[in-house]
Amino acid sequence: MSLLAVGTVAFDTIETPFGRAERILGGSATYITLAARFLTEPVRLDAVVGRDFPDEHIALLRERGVDTRGLVRDPNGETFFWAGRYHYDLNQRDTLATHLNVLATFEPNLPADFRDSRVVCLGNLDPTVQARVLDQTEAPDLVVMDTMNYWIEQTPEALRDVLGRVDVLIINDAEARELAGQPNLVRAARAIRAMGPETLVIKKGEHGALLFTDDVVFSAPAYPLEDIHDPTGAGDTFLGGFAGHLARTGTYDGEAMKEAVVLGSALASFVVEAFGPERLLDLTPEALASRVAAFHRLSAMPAGLLA
Ligand code: AMP
Repeated sequence: MSLLAVGTVAFDTIETPFGRAERILGGSATYITLAARFLTEPVRLDAVVGRDFPDEHIALLRERGVDTRGLVRDPNGETFFWAGRYHYDLNQRDTLATHLNVLATFEPNLPADFRDSRVVCLGNLDPTVQARVLDQTEAPDLVVMDTMNYWIEQTPEALRDVLGRVDVLIINDAEARELAGQPNLVRAARAIRAMGPETLVIKKGEHGALLFTDDVVFSAPAYPLEDIHDPTGAGDTFLGGFAGHLARTGTYDGEAMKEAVVLGSALASFVVEAFGPERLLDLTPEALASRVAAFHRLSAMPAGLLA
């Protein structure tokens, strides 16, 4: 089934203890679409770039099956730019720069044939822009959303409004605590689900992810990797894999959500192996399938204890 992703398409400058990359392709919508395209089609991208964005980056997305007709070029400005530095503990990152550039005046205007998308992914963006995208869609089956501390602090009311319109929220543990005003994640999950999203996924970096629905609490590990080069985009890749699986199956019950968490985790485990989205570009379906199988072996618990 069709999947639409709205978010940033960006230039990123990234420093990790293992190296540095300057002005490489990044952005939440880039990672979401590059992950989702392994699982479903069509995958549609709605975002804005500036006059400085190279055609080769757009071609790279298109060649991998992403429908880029919603990617608008604003000739009056420069592309969104983000710079970040990771600590030795890769769960810790400092944002060094966020230049909104063309994003500051972005008015989403979905192409007519994107409006019927069945699964809608709202990547990390101003919640008023996320709401405007929803206004332009035709009753999607599922809306999956990401946000971050910046919007929780700066635009709490707009965030609450859009939260009331989404089915799944995917955020990290610090964001969940801040949004709920509650340090305990189980209580925080209850409070956040009362704000609107029936399903909540809390990402915990290298410690995996927790899923909360009406009838399911599920914990998935992160894949233990020896070589992690750059965690940038892991969260967005998770979202793309999660939503891509649901778009493919067209089922949204607790079991499907569990499977989606595993697919999201498996795809995210690849993206951290190289700088930027590079590892997603040449990934094969076979390598993905074998990582999913490895996940299963990693976390299958012995059953029937004390029976
Ligand atoms: P993640 O590592 O999954 O949190 O996502 C990293 C990506 O998010 C980078 O490629 C950035 O370009 C993008 N990004 C960083 N800050 C923002 C922001 N304030 N709004 C939207 N996208 C952002």
